[in-house]
Amino acid sequence: MENIKLGTKCVQGGYQPKNGEPRQIPIYQSTTYKYDTSEDMGKLFDLEASGYFYARLQNPTCDFVSAKICEMEGGTAAMLTSSGQAASFFSIFNIAGCGDHIVASSAIYGGTYNLFAVTLKRMGIEFTFVSPDSTDEELDKAFKPNTKAVFGETIANPALNVLDIERFADMAHKHGVPLIIDNTFATPVNCRPIEWGADIVIHSTTKYMDGHGSAVGGCIVDSGKFDWTKYPEKYPGLCTPDDSYHGVTYTERFGIEGAYITKATAQLMRDFGCCQQAQTAYVLNLGLESLHLRMKRHCENGLAVAKFLKEDDRIAWVRFPHLEGDSNYELAQKYMPNGGCGVVSFGVKGGRKGAEAFMKELKLCSIATHVADARTCCLHPANATHRQMNDDELAAAGITPDLIRLSCGIEDSEDIIADIKQALDKI
Ligand code: PLP
Repeated sequence: MENIKLGTKCVQGGYQPKNGEPRQIPIYQSTTYKYDTSEDMGKLFDLEASGYFYARLQNPTCDFVSAKICEMEGGTAAMLTSSGQAASFFSIFNIAGCGDHIVASSAIYGGTYNLFAVTLKRMGIEFTFVSPDSTDEELDKAFKPNTKAVFGETIANPALNVLDIERFADMAHKHGVPLIIDNTFATPVNCRPIEWGADIVIHSTTKYMDGHGSAVGGCIVDSGKFDWTKYPEKYPGLCTPDDSYHGVTYTERFGIEGAYITKATAQLMRDFGCCQQAQTAYVLNLGLESLHLRMKRHCENGLAVAKFLKEDDRIAWVRFPHLEGDSNYELAQKYMPNGGCGVVSFGVKGGRKGAEAFMKELKLCSIATHVADARTCCLHPANATHRQMNDDELAAAGITPDLIRLSCGIEDSEDIIADIKQALDKI
């Protein structure tokens, strides 16, 4: 069928059973695969035939699920990874190495920031962090001759800035590099970055995609649009023979639609082994089947809570890009007209102490580092994930001491609001 809608892809994408085959995706709980001859297996190792030989590289259950996410994002190839962190790492390391440089938005998940600013720096990859609100001139200045990619998040965790994807994509392409977008918070239900010019999309599937706090995972999707062959000196790993794979040149053998993901699978998965487990992919697929329904509810609840907080004079400030008056409201409407996500951040009057007192009184909203879950969860970063920082260091990280991050679940919004209200009444 032509023009399948996103909700249908959530339910049926990626796996079409043939006559008599299981309706639900089978869990291939096998590390290894049997072949009749060594020649058959040799062809797989030479990437001359497609097939499975060892589950560290590929597994059919994972491939059904990555194919579904690929369809949802509108890409040409995709792979699952063991976590969102592994997806971020692979997305960069697949095209950059020691001596290279990346431009990244400064409004990104703290774990990604640490991966880039500390760990990848130790591996010789240098990052320049730019504000998502940078002017074109400021952005332009961030590029260097050795820049290999631009990286940003559709909706930043926890700052909630909305990235102007089209502008960042144009700037990346002007400098002959791809734009990599972490689309974890918006999910393809609400935003498909490839339609706005992004070249690679990654996810922490641990968040809304799983959505039930059950399975850590990640995914990388390639749009197949970035023409690596135009810049062979910049991307030798894709455009020249890979000695570790019998001299295969990925762009020649797999085209620009398949080169990036094939290289990441054949080289990075082989060497680092950050593969997703079949059982995990099965759980993730259950989450994906209801993603379109859950995202609608998360967004409705987020907006209802944000509106309530804005009207309450015990609240110092509220951040929710889809709330009228938010500094990113126009960008949110442009890229996500049907809603973004259910995460709201706000400050309780009384600063750090006010926030601490508020958190103690919550009953329904659970205190958790997790976000994007079916159950509403709440975090006071200054007292939890960022507790080692003083107020000055928090400010540098864009986090105020009073900031509370509330990830609205899919309960009834009246109950979430009632819990917030009773907690405010007590402090
Ligand atoms: N990207 C974003 C936007 C995240 O919020 C997270 C985790 O919170 C990650 C990546 C890392 O994902 P994971 O925890 O699955 O490794």
